[in-house]
Amino acid sequence: MSNFGDVTYADAPAADSTAPAGVNGSEQPILIDPNDPRLTSEVLTIDETADAYAVLPPLPDGKWRMKAKQVDIKDDKGQLQRYAVFSRAKMANGQPFFATNIEYSAIDHGTEEFDGVRITDYWVKTLLDQRKGTSQAATMILKLGGKLPASPTQKAVMDTLLQVLASEPELIYETAWSAECQTCQNVAKKRGEKAPRPFLQGMHRFPATRTPGVHDPIVQCPTCKGQVRAQARLVAPYSLKETQPTRGVAKQG
Ligand SMILES: [Zn+2]
Repeated sequence: MSNFGDVTYADAPAADSTAPAGVNGSEQPILIDPNDPRLTSEVLTIDETADAYAVLPPLPDGKWRMKAKQVDIKDDKGQLQRYAVFSRAKMANGQPFFATNIEYSAIDHGTEEFDGVRITDYWVKTLLDQRKGTSQAATMILKLGGKLPASPTQKAVMDTLLQVLASEPELIYETAWSAECQTCQNVAKKRGEKAPRPFLQGMHRFPATRTPGVHDPIVQCPTCKGQVRAQARLVAPYSLKETQPTRGVAKQG
């Protein structure tokens, strides 16, 4: 869902809000004996052709089964909240609305290479899109298998969305590679201009590699000639009843 010019960052875990907490949710480090048998006796299987510093390719385009989770949003005072209230002059004439963030993690029962890869949808809003007749928050309640509140005020819709997200429900999300130049976006921002659109969208438009079906995520920005890496973007959500995943599915036999 990318309406109202909001930005969806792929693969990049949001600062602090999604940093993994320690075991049992505590931030305390776990003290370990250096002679722990997990360190001294457990023999690891190491792939000598692999490289732990290699950057994994972005999630390939397709329909992925994903698990949804609420993550905190920064309010206008810079504080992290489960959800927050906003008003923007350029959005629906400053009408107030609530927003939260939803993090989706891919479920990969196939190669498992992409299992757990996360994409966060920032600013999921309760603001009614007049042309579409619904809001992002209401859409996600339904796609995640929930029911809209009987009297859908913005507050009731946000409360329902948080309730639905509490069980970490699943859905199918269609994703696609997108190349956007950060350098050119920063230049436009400094000039007070509109951010440039992604200059390449869809994995099949990226250069082919020697491996069939695998594309190179690194491309050159046509404007500044800088190197840009494709990011997987959320394109279209579907409920589990609406469609089947085309990716992350275990091979038969
Ligand atoms: Zn550029």
